[in-house]
Amino acid sequence: MTEHYDLAVVGAGIVGLGHAAAGLDRGLRVVVVERDAMIAGASVRNFGHVGTSVHVGEAGEYAIRARAAWLRLADHAGFWLRRSGSLMVARHHDELAVLEEAGGGELLTAEQVAGLAPVMGAVGGMLQHGDLQVDPREAAPAIAAWLALQGVEFQWRTTALFAETGVLHTSRGEIRAEAIVFAVNYDVDHVFPEVAERNGIERCALDMLLSDGVGLPLPLLTGSSMLRYSAFATQPSAAAVRERIARDEPSILTLDVNHMLTERPDGTLIVGDTHTVGTAISPFQNEGSFGLLERLTADLFGIAPRIRERWQGVYAKAPRDFLRAAPAEGMRVVSVTTGIGMTTGLGLAEAVVEELFG
Ligand SMILES: Cc1cc2nc3c(=O)[nH]c(=O)nc-3n(C[C@H](O)[C@H](O)[C@H](O)COP(=O)(O)OP(=O)(O)OC[C@H]3O[C@@H](n4cnc5c(N)ncnc54)[C@H](O)[C@@H]3O)c2cc1C
Repeated sequence: MTEHYDLAVVGAGIVGLGHAAAGLDRGLRVVVVERDAMIAGASVRNFGHVGTSVHVGEAGEYAIRARAAWLRLADHAGFWLRRSGSLMVARHHDELAVLEEAGGGELLTAEQVAGLAPVMGAVGGMLQHGDLQVDPREAAPAIAAWLALQGVEFQWRTTALFAETGVLHTSRGEIRAEAIVFAVNYDVDHVFPEVAERNGIERCALDMLLSDGVGLPLPLLTGSSMLRYSAFATQPSAAAVRERIARDEPSILTLDVNHMLTERPDGTLIVGDTHTVGTAISPFQNEGSFGLLERLTADLFGIAPRIRERWQGVYAKAPRDFLRAAPAEGMRVVSVTTGIGMTTGLGLAEAVVEELFG
């Protein structure tokens, strides 16, 4: 295997596929190298929430580009996407105060929330109009299939071992390419340990559930989400939310819960999530995390969820939100180093391909 390409991409998650799509747009000859036989990483394990509305700075710039790319790709590849916006529900007056202080979306009354989503005890909410939703289990595989039809080559069950300028060494031989991009999520330390250490890259593991749906027509975020996303968490009024949660439900803070939910087109509900950070992740998931997610969901909808699946997803985590390293000429190591790769990954990829090819 000593083929010659313009662009070799390692990793067939949403970030790698974004690079392949951006290369295809420029008429480049592209190959994607993926160690698995199918797409099985973070890009199929998430909520499918493309939360473009709340980001600023570099993340905001990538999110705007990514949103346009999602719409284009859904059109080309024919996967499910809804332009529903997303709802952050307030079920306590201290949560409503955070939404009012943060602004940035349309404030809703309790009645308006009740008309949108089947949640119990809402006192208000905020609608983020620009947000999108995709089915994470469908979207990335559909993009890969469409890219393959357009002439992008895929080398499945092929592991990238190391690279130098112009040559990618894989478990099946060499690939020659003018540019090489590693989009391997948290596994940066497997191929470039010094890059990972210099940039403080760790792993963040999330416990997730799939249950029967409740007829939720848009992504739903809750009070614990307000402590997670900086647009809300940095508001002075967020302190009262944190204090109440610390007093009434401290396990939300100890398990670092962001209770959010999205319903898939088949009517099943994705429920998450907890967060554990480290350079290595324990393979043993604590049943206490799932119990808490189930309890919070039962309280939110007023019915006990019937659980169908449990899983763990992992994303790269670092002090900065994005890694764009250039360990050699014509080579990039790219990762979204916080949990917003579905929102920003396609935009980040466009920016990197632009930098490499002008
Ligand atoms: C549970 C969960 C929920 C999330 N929810 C959201 C959300 O709703 N909205 C949002 O914006 N973001 C969300 N995120 C974050 C988002 O899913 C990730 O940021 C994004 O999927 C990362 O994409 P990726 O392509 O870098 O990684 P991945 O999808 O993990 O792809 C990396 C690929 O690289 C391959 N690979 C690794 N090393 C090699 C090698 N040496 N050779 C060949 N192949 C290799 C892997 O097999 C893998 O397929 C969530 C993440 C998780 C875990």
